[in-house]
Amino acid sequence: MRGKEFQRVKAALLSELDVTLQKCCHQRLKDVVNDLQIHHAGIKPDASPDEVFAVFLKSGVLKTMTGTPIVRMRESLERLKTGTFGLCASCGRNIPAAYLEKYPTATRCASCDRQAQKLMRPANNGIAAKSDIN
Ligand SMILES: [Zn+2]
Repeated sequence: MRGKEFQRVKAALLSELDVTLQKCCHQRLKDVVNDLQIHHAGIKPDASPDEVFAVFLKSGVLKTMTGTPIVRMRESLERLKTGTFGLCASCGRNIPAAYLEKYPTATRCASCDRQAQKLMRPANNGIAAKSDIN
């Protein structure tokens, strides 16, 4: 991913973090950041996405929150930290930046994600569809 694209993806991830926090704990990102400022020095109100992500990881605040979107967000931030962000967890190829801008917490490329969803479906229903058996 090129620098500019990566910045756009990070901005998308940051707004996704805001939406996720509102959905899962009815808090806005800026309020959580304010709390973090009090308890964990080193984050400024005008912090860059990278700084915000780093403080979120360091504080472990996402670990104390529950909900699938929060877990996905935490995984994304950890992938950013370890340098595997943007790589498909299934095939190892780069996930296109445009796809990540749309789905910032995606851990698989579009085609692997479709494959995974196909495999997941029978388990979700509890009963396998006839066409899946044969
Ligand atoms: Zn893939």
